[in-house]
Amino acid sequence: MSRCLWCNEEVMYTVSIKELVTFHCKNRPLCLGCSRQLKRLDSFTRCSGCSRISEREAHCQDCLAWRQRYPQLKLKHQAVYAYNGFAREMVKQFKFSGDCELAAAFSEEIKELTRCRRRSSLVIPIPISRSSIETRGFNQTELLLESARIEYQRVLENAFQREKQSKKTRFERLESPQPFIVRDRMEGEIKGKNLIIVDDIYTTGRTVYHAAQLLSQYNPASISSVSLFR
Ligand SMILES: [Zn+2]
Ligand SMILES: [Zn+2]
Repeated sequence: MSRCLWCNEEVMYTVSIKELVTFHCKNRPLCLGCSRQLKRLDSFTRCSGCSRISEREAHCQDCLAWRQRYPQLKLKHQAVYAYNGFAREMVKQFKFSGDCELAAAFSEEIKELTRCRRRSSLVIPIPISRSSIETRGFNQTELLLESARIEYQRVLENAFQREKQSKKTRFERLESPQPFIVRDRMEGEIKGKNLIIVDDIYTTGRTVYHAAQLLSQYNPASISSVSLFR
C-alpha cells in the first residue's frame, strides 16, 4: 500500500479492466481525494491558443493580442491542469521548500505533454532567474522533466539579473524586455528541429512568447509550448 505524496493518506484505487488484463498498474502518486482537486483542462472547453477555460474554442482576447504582436509565431499552448488553489499550494511547496519528490507526482503528465509527435524534436525548459538559482538551487521545470525521464537541452539562459516575474504587476510583465539569450554553441542545435518549450505555469504568456520569439530567429522546423498548469 502506497501513501499519497501530498496528504500522506493511503492510496486506494480500483484497478481498471485494462490494468488487470495487461498486468500493468498505473503509478498513482496521489490519493483519490487529492487527484480530484486537480482539474484537468481537457474536460473543459478551452481557448485553442492558450488552453484557458473558455466558453468557446476560438482565441481569447489575450491570444488575439499575442497574434497581432507576433504574427509569425502562431503558438498553440498545451497545459494539463487548471492553476487553482490546490495547484498553487502544490507549486508553492514544490518551488520554495524544494520538495523534489513531488515532481514525480507529475511524471505521467509531463510525458504526455512532451510526447514527441514528430522526430527531431528538442525539449527546451524555460530557465529560472539567476537570483532564483542562488536561493532555490534548482530549476523546477528541469526537475519535472528529469523525474519523467525526458531528455532536454539547456538552450536558453537569462541575459541579465532579472526580477522575479511573480513580483511584477500584469502590465510590467507584459511590457518586460526580452530576458533570454541562446546559450553559446546552441544556435546550431535549433535549426530544422521541432522545438517544445516547457514551463511549469503559463500565466500571461509573456515568458513563453519571449522564448518562442527568440528561438524563431534560428530557423526551427516548428515551435510548440507546454506547461503543467494554466
Ligand atoms: Zn492525498
Ligand atoms: Zn487564449
